Amino acid sequence: MYQSFLIKYAEIAIKGKNRHLFEEALVGRLHRALKKVEGDFTVRREQGRIYVDAAEAMEDYDEVVDALGCVFGVVGICPVVLVPDEGFDRLAEEVIRFVGAEYPERRFTFKVSARRARKNYPLESMEINAKLGERILEAYPDTRVDVHAPEVMIYVEVRSEINIYSRVIPGPGGMPVGTNGKAMLLLSGGIDSPVAGFMVAKRGVTLEAVYFHAPPYTSERAKQKVVDLAKIISRYAGPIKLYVVNFTEIQLYIYEQCPHEELTIIMRRYMMRIAEHFAEKDKCLGLVTGESIGQVASQTMQSLAATDDVCTFPVYRPLIGFDKQEIIERSEQIGTYETSILPYEDCCTIFVAKHPVTKPSLHVIRSDERKLSERIDELFKEAVDTAEVLCVEA
Ligand code: ATP
Ligand code: MG
Repeated sequence: MYQSFLIKYAEIAIKGKNRHLFEEALVGRLHRALKKVEGDFTVRREQGRIYVDAAEAMEDYDEVVDALGCVFGVVGICPVVLVPDEGFDRLAEEVIRFVGAEYPERRFTFKVSARRARKNYPLESMEINAKLGERILEAYPDTRVDVHAPEVMIYVEVRSEINIYSRVIPGPGGMPVGTNGKAMLLLSGGIDSPVAGFMVAKRGVTLEAVYFHAPPYTSERAKQKVVDLAKIISRYAGPIKLYVVNFTEIQLYIYEQCPHEELTIIMRRYMMRIAEHFAEKDKCLGLVTGESIGQVASQTMQSLAATDDVCTFPVYRPLIGFDKQEIIERSEQIGTYETSILPYEDCCTIFVAKHPVTKPSLHVIRSDERKLSERIDELFKEAVDTAEVLCVEA
């Protein structure tokens, strides 16, 4: 019975002069999302509203709602019935039919909420509410009006056509991807970094990603897990360019030359440098990591400062104040958790020291890093030049 969806968006409606840019971006993202759904759809903008219309009426709309529910910027998806204005009696008939089909038990409390976007309509909103309420009560005597806590809301909006809808299925919110520049995500196979990527993409940022692996210490399956995670994020974030960097030689060299308790910090500094190299090349505006204060030795305030020390780009850490449990909950919601917990080895854990420094001093780290001066430039270049580039898309 449904053929159209009214798309609600909040934040992007308040962007003043830029509003049309955000709306166009949202329309673009909706189009993209609908490509994965069977059937023909059009997306149209009309009087500050966005509608998705299907070429044919649909019995069930779960697939459409799932696809639209991955589009950042969408606050609500409302399956809507659009009827021409052919007088109040026709409207009342349509509303009664709609309510009866939508809630077949016909036993509930309700409230009608009318809005007149077209002021030449002969009835005012309050009158429409009262009159439609009466008609519904007549048609379905087991229903009751409750204006304070209704079980069912019935929205009627008088526009060029009249919009009738009841359910508002929540969307992810945020802003359409592509409206806020591009960032380079350091994506590991863990729980945190996929969530961090999701959160930044939700603010409209296009993602690229870099993954460091250490063959033969880390397996092909560990790499595949990262590709799979990128694929899940790309459901929301769109296609992701993923750099896979062979980090083995650099890790071994650090292991040979530097104190073992500093290994993780120095390694992380090289990850940031390499990530920044690709970020700069691709015109990204920042780096993104899944770090949160104090989660592990390499994420104390001192360690984070030692990591930032080598970065010229801003480093965004959207999980900075989250507890692990909160991050886990997010990862379950976005669908990355099950993949993240698959037990493949991670390059960071392979040479990890028993007692890593938790309060690294910057000048000590900088001076120990000089022990790498002989070969590090050559290894850095090698790692960058041999990086594999994948385009990951859901
Ligand atoms: P995650 O669950 O995201 O792996 P973590 O709690 O295991 O995080 P660390 O291993 O200290 O924490 O990594 C901190 C951050 O560094 C990660 O969130 C990620 O952004 C980045 N990172 C760590 N290892 C890698 C890797 N192998 N490739 C790319 N980025 C990585
Ligand atoms: Mg990790």
